[in-house]
Amino acid sequence: MGGEVLYREEFRLHSPKPYSHPESPERLDWALEGVRLAGWPLREPGLGDTSLFLRVHAREYYEAVMRAASQGEVVWLDPDTYVSPGTPRALEALAGAVTDAVEIAARGEGPVAVLGRPPGHHAGRSGRGLGAPTLGFCVFNASALTAKLLSERGRTAVLDFDAHHGNGTQDILWAEPVLHVDIHQDPSTIYPGTGFPSETGAPGLPVKANICVPPGAGDDIYADASRLALSIISDYDPDYIVVSAGFDAYIGDTPFTELRATSATFNLLGRLLSSYSERLVVVLEGGYSIGLREGLAAFLRGLEGREVDAGETTSSSGHAWEWYMRRRRELLEAIGRG
Ligand SMILES: [Zn+2]
Repeated sequence: MGGEVLYREEFRLHSPKPYSHPESPERLDWALEGVRLAGWPLREPGLGDTSLFLRVHAREYYEAVMRAASQGEVVWLDPDTYVSPGTPRALEALAGAVTDAVEIAARGEGPVAVLGRPPGHHAGRSGRGLGAPTLGFCVFNASALTAKLLSERGRTAVLDFDAHHGNGTQDILWAEPVLHVDIHQDPSTIYPGTGFPSETGAPGLPVKANICVPPGAGDDIYADASRLALSIISDYDPDYIVVSAGFDAYIGDTPFTELRATSATFNLLGRLLSSYSERLVVVLEGGYSIGLREGLAAFLRGLEGREVDAGETTSSSGHAWEWYMRRRRELLEAIGRG
């Protein structure tokens, strides 16, 4: 069954102008095109209160962001990450969309996707997640907030398939009763430098499972990684799933990653998740061009259980497979499935 997309024009008010930056309002044009291809309807969520983000962020960090955004011009929180005079309004829209999405999932009326900005999965409790060099374009963590709110209603799992590790989400959820499975490019080759298999979360709580794929990974490695992610999730038997959905692993989407996933990967991820779709919330993370159109469309169709003809798929080298299988074994041992 199809879902709906929560979207407001205010998401465009977080804007780098007069600077140019890859995390720009134009990203939403690509993503809306993907939504149109998938045929999902848009719905305007209510505006919320930004203080909702205090559920997952320290007051000091929250106030520093809001202060920077009140300067009347673009302010750089670090060399990668800006806020602008419109950022607070965009964050109100994000808080409103998260609130509505949680209610929709709690009623079992999903799937629902929050098509918002700025992204959040690199933002930890007090800012840069796990000591990362920067906030990586992220301001407040809507995925972690959604997971936190849903975990008060039932067993909750997060799947993050953005090309980069969701270090902020791991930071916030480390000692929370939430399963967090994260598929990303080898952190020794890419920002934020965390997300190794040995990072499994606080003892006695649902694990943080870091599935690493090597630079050059194609659809074949992604298919295995996706099935592994879903087997960890299905063993946990969650009531709710939050998908921290980035499309920057899509081949040709961005110069920031070296991954080669196509629509086949994103469609498979959607289909694997489709049995949970009534209680599933998608939150947009990265993706900067074609991945937001083609990858998002294939993913949303997958959530409806629809298989798409992805055209040509990509395969990985023997060397990449060897590397992947080694990390995979490390992970299974670290989370007690070895
Ligand atoms: Zn990313």
